[in-house]
Amino acid sequence: MAALPKVLLKKGREKPILRGHPWIFSGAVERVEGDISPGEVGEIYSGDGQYLGAGHLNLRSQIVFRLLTQKREELGPDFYRERILTAAALRRRWWRGKTSACRIINAEGDFLPGLIVDNYGETMVLQCLTAGMERVKELLTRLLAESLLPQSIYERSDVIVRKEEGLAGSSGLLYGKDVPGQVEIEERGCRFRVNIKRGQKTGFYLDQRENRMAAGELSDGKRVLDCFCYTGAFAIHTGSGGAKEMTLIDSSEEALEMAEGHFSLNRLVRIPRQLIRGDAFEILRTLKQGYDMVILDPPPFVKKKGQLPRATRGYKDLNLLAFRLLNKGGILLTFSCSHHMDRDLFQKVVFSAAVDAGKKVQFLSWKGHPMDHPVNLSHPEGEYLKGLVCRVL
Ligand code: SAH
Repeated sequence: MAALPKVLLKKGREKPILRGHPWIFSGAVERVEGDISPGEVGEIYSGDGQYLGAGHLNLRSQIVFRLLTQKREELGPDFYRERILTAAALRRRWWRGKTSACRIINAEGDFLPGLIVDNYGETMVLQCLTAGMERVKELLTRLLAESLLPQSIYERSDVIVRKEEGLAGSSGLLYGKDVPGQVEIEERGCRFRVNIKRGQKTGFYLDQRENRMAAGELSDGKRVLDCFCYTGAFAIHTGSGGAKEMTLIDSSEEALEMAEGHFSLNRLVRIPRQLIRGDAFEILRTLKQGYDMVILDPPPFVKKKGQLPRATRGYKDLNLLAFRLLNKGGILLTFSCSHHMDRDLFQKVVFSAAVDAGKKVQFLSWKGHPMDHPVNLSHPEGEYLKGLVCRVL
């Protein structure tokens, strides 16, 4: 086998990777040996020449190296097959009976940096976020098809982060039968249509599954506001849990059309409802008080650390508006999917919004992502979704 390109780190910069953190930033690199094309496999060494591992290199990205293994092993079909099967084994027993849609590979959290695979019934959706995974896309497709036997594998690598890797977006059928415009899935008795070819993310927010179920359990007899509803998945769970009336808000017309379709698909058309398209910040100001449950599931407001102060104000405003709309005894389920907004800060923001709204509030529980979105303990960046459940007294 030809020698692999080598990256030597500056002295003392090996500690995170020794603990299993999978990223090396360009500033930690002393020297690169060999010609490197984006996404190529290479080895990483400490400043004093100790072998640290092998992974994907991309000198065009700020993250120049992504660790795949700390052993000396070939990064070929056997390696990827083993990682895929290990990831699939975690989900195999766990998801039966709960849902027909589940994340099979959660990138760094399943020790495959840059690779996401979601499963919707018989259809798999693959997302390659890095040049390294892009290079092995055909191999990954073949291994997923052979090992997990989906009917189709569809690519949705049309994401902006690929730009940072020097990659254009890419989407389309990779394997098997063509995928219909909408695929139907089930989530604890609730049915949803997922637009695999054009929907947000890979079509559905799988990470909120258990939080939607929790909302459903609390919703009997309630007047519900589902803010940032996308295709109405929270609303439908609360409807099947017995909610008596609802308001749904989203900026996407297409998402709201699908949300309306989900009421008939789930035989919930009898529930009085209004679906409002527009900016949630503006609409919340125009609504009248009187909700028993408010769900706030906004898109990430902070992509870079520098945006944190502005984002914090955004979360504060939103939660303040929500508290104002809640009745006595009303429940707020509030989320942030920004990694930079950590739990402590999020809790402070929500509680100070309650104070400013003049509400006395009880804290009921923390929420996060489900087990099919595992996090590598050495890679805290992988933990992004956090939620709080509060009750207004
Ligand atoms: N709760 C949803 C997922 C929400 S994702 C679920 O469980 O499926 C965030 C949603 O916010 C997206 O649907 C996006 O279209 C919408 N959105 C983004 N900015 C918005 C804004 N300013 N006002 C209202 N909706 C917005």
